Amino acid sequence: MKSETPKEQSYDVIIVGGAIMGSSTAWFLSDNKDFNGKVLVVEKDSSYEFASTTHTNSCMRQQFSEELNVRISQFAADFVKNIRTYMGNDDRVPELSIQNYGYMYLADNEAFAQVLRENQKVQLDAGAGTELMTAEQIKKNYPFYNVDDIVLGSINTVDEGFWDGSTVFDWWRRQAGERGIEYITNEVVSMAKNAAGTRVESVTLKSGETIACGQVVNASGPRAARTAAMAGITVPVEPRKRFTWVFAAEQPLDRDLPLTIDPSGVHVRENGGGTYLAGGHSDVDPAVDHSDFTMDQSLWENHIWPVLATRIPQFEAIKITSEWAGHYAYNVFDHNAILGSHTEVENFIFLNGFSGHGLQQSPAMGRATSELLTYGEYRTLDLTPFNYERIINNQPIIEKAII
Ligand SMILES: Cc1cc2nc3c(=O)[nH]c(=O)nc-3n(C[C@H](O)[C@H](O)[C@H](O)COP(=O)(O)OP(=O)(O)OC[C@H]3O[C@@H](n4cnc5c(N)ncnc54)[C@H](O)[C@@H]3O)c2cc1C
Repeated sequence: MKSETPKEQSYDVIIVGGAIMGSSTAWFLSDNKDFNGKVLVVEKDSSYEFASTTHTNSCMRQQFSEELNVRISQFAADFVKNIRTYMGNDDRVPELSIQNYGYMYLADNEAFAQVLRENQKVQLDAGAGTELMTAEQIKKNYPFYNVDDIVLGSINTVDEGFWDGSTVFDWWRRQAGERGIEYITNEVVSMAKNAAGTRVESVTLKSGETIACGQVVNASGPRAARTAAMAGITVPVEPRKRFTWVFAAEQPLDRDLPLTIDPSGVHVRENGGGTYLAGGHSDVDPAVDHSDFTMDQSLWENHIWPVLATRIPQFEAIKITSEWAGHYAYNVFDHNAILGSHTEVENFIFLNGFSGHGLQQSPAMGRATSELLTYGEYRTLDLTPFNYERIINNQPIIEKAII
């Protein structure tokens, strides 16, 4: 891909990575009247062929164990449902909605059922509509499930299901560009700090130019640790492979399939037109090479399909129509977002570690990061608990609802 040269030699903000997180931040900066700085977004692959953003399953949920994650998704739902209003009543921006089939968490033992009960309390307190269901209630509402081993289910059909993340992404980029945010195709390959080691002074691009920066944002997804290393910083984020299979059922279900999280960890959801989308990963789940997107057919044959056909017997007869492997930017410390400034390199801002739920977090993350860049603090939703500092202080925030 041909490298592009930035127009300026110095920017107030340089964002490394122009996928959904980088673009959300860029757009929210462009939308803030208090921010008057120059912004450069450097994206190494403007086709986004290998980004997490283009491998996503594009769903949102309110069912988290951490209240802050529920609040973050509530903002996502509000943003998606009111996107045109948020985007200045621009009538080119399409109206969007959420396909509310809900996530159905299934527990096959009392210990996990208790986790679902505790999570429901957190969610209800935050205003979510989570309902618990016995096996009988599940069977009554969704007769296609085999519930023989099920102790409890948890589902919420308000602001939970598929949304069109790629349209939001497209419009953030488009409008940010129209408002003067500069996107270039290039790669940040190194950073230089001041003598005290407290600030990144410049980034160097693959094409050779060195560009000065006021603040630098690490929005490089599964490459977060590589980007941080350029500033001599560590961040506990690894690329972990996640597989997706889309299949057509010979006998489609008679109603929408919630995004079902089987107790085995395999998940499957409605995909429209008699097709369904399933995902999962191997029991052995190492960090992988950034270029490794090979499929694992044995995982499908020996694990995913048998689990699906046991849970939903109608899925005995299915045909795969497409499949792909993508990378989670997996936060091995506590599976939650890593945000805010570095504790010593104060103008290095993290936007990392979303561990498979970043698409729905992108509106709140971009808004919060734009506030931090503008005011030095969060002004709407306080995301301080997710700041990088908690890693230094060894204070994990464990999100129990990870898929
Ligand atoms: C299979 C799968 C299913 C998922 N399902 C869901 C879901 O249903 N709901 C949900 O909320 N989330 C989901 N996610 C997670 C979600 O897709 C991600 O959290 C989100 O897309 C992360 O966006 P990002 O911008 O941080 O990272 P990415 O999309 O990976 O973007 C990072 C960008 O940085 C660029 N870059 C990296 N290094 C450099 C550099 N040095 N210089 C220039 N550019 C650089 C890359 O080219 C890339 O474009 C899923 C992820 C996967 C893989």
